[in-house]
Amino acid sequence: MGAPSPLAYIGLGSNLESPIEQVREALTELARLPLSRLVAASSLYASRPVGPQDQPDFINAVAALETRLSPLALLDQLQALEQQHRRRRQRHWGPRTLDLDLLLYANDHINSPRLRVPHPQMTARAFVLLPLAEIAPSLDLLQQPLSIWLERVENQGLERLPNA
Ligand code: ADP
Ligand code: MG
Repeated sequence: MGAPSPLAYIGLGSNLESPIEQVREALTELARLPLSRLVAASSLYASRPVGPQDQPDFINAVAALETRLSPLALLDQLQALEQQHRRRRQRHWGPRTLDLDLLLYANDHINSPRLRVPHPQMTARAFVLLPLAEIAPSLDLLQQPLSIWLERVENQGLERLPNA
């Protein structure tokens, strides 16, 4: 038996016109990444757009991935998936987005031009913290329990979708 694989948490987001399908598909694709195993996926959450309201709701989720990919190799894979989704959607529906953020990678602190981990904005975003708490309720984030971070953010109009 080798050393245990590092555990990474990934934040998924989409504001496609059918963003639910987009996020579900991305979860399936994460499960197929090389040297990796999807160990948990949160429910899907809908949140109202922060800026202009004349766009679809955002759909968010968080996934936990055991992986032997290095942080940068994992980022490469995430960005390749983003590109695939953009290309595919551009053909049929016009430009749309899938956002895959590397939130946490084991207990690593990374501060490079391409990659910052823990993801700098995650502590302020209910659409990250709430799904993360669903799959990792006893996680510590920057040496504080997740529950403390959660208490500090407003709900931000987040709504958990029923599991399909
Ligand atoms: P957003 O900040 O809305 O997620 P983008 O997805 O377009 O915007 O940002 C992508 C850029 O952020 C990439 O160039 C990537 O190298 C950089 N980046 C830095 N840290 C991270 C991280 N933890 N996860 C994903 N991308 C990151
Ligand atoms: Mg991103």
